[in-house]
Amino acid sequence: MRMRPIIGMTACQEDQKIYKTNNTYVRAVLRAGGVPVLLPVGGRPEDCGRLAALVDGLLIPGGLDVATQFFGEEPVKEVTCIDRVQDTFELELIRQAAALGKPMLAICRGLQVVNVAFGGTLYQDIPTQCPQAMGHRQETASRSEEYHTVDVLPGTALAAALGEGPLLTNSYHHQAVKDLAPGFIVSARAKDGIIEAIEDRNGSILGVQWHPECMEERHPRFRQLFTAFVARAAGEG
Ligand code: MN
Repeated sequence: MRMRPIIGMTACQEDQKIYKTNNTYVRAVLRAGGVPVLLPVGGRPEDCGRLAALVDGLLIPGGLDVATQFFGEEPVKEVTCIDRVQDTFELELIRQAAALGKPMLAICRGLQVVNVAFGGTLYQDIPTQCPQAMGHRQETASRSEEYHTVDVLPGTALAAALGEGPLLTNSYHHQAVKDLAPGFIVSARAKDGIIEAIEDRNGSILGVQWHPECMEERHPRFRQLFTAFVARAAGEG
């Protein structure tokens, strides 16, 4: 068997005091056979190329909204929680990792940062900008609770990992992809048309709008997303 691949994941700042990554991401990567390493977002953007070279794969986790100027807009009033230092670092890290062909798994905010990194735009607030949309922000006792259906499109890398067709997922987002970044395809949509997963054309960069790391223990199907990602990072995908 090959060496277990190193999976870098960004750690965001909390209260200007602590760098943190939810343990669910770490545990999901460990269970899938990866070696997690945390990358604090306070690093210098000019070092992102070397950081990207250090890892075999990159996981971009969920979190705050992306600052709207990075996709050429001013914020609507529902966009309040941003961290420009994190945005700058992650955007550069993602571009450098892509230039090196490193596989990526981008989750929730992570998908949104990836889309912006390659020239896409976002709905800043689904309830106000897409009034016909259904619920995308559950309030349930457990984050492993299923909430809405997504349709995984056939022929995609996502379908290869999870299977195609309807899939019940959790949902914790108020933003979504508006204009898809050039070079990417949609790999899943919710019933209201909201984009729920994207990938690049060779299936090396996968982004999902839900939180599989909160579901994979209770719903093992979601673990396949992490095992497929770790396998790609190990050069087996
Ligand atoms: Mn959703």
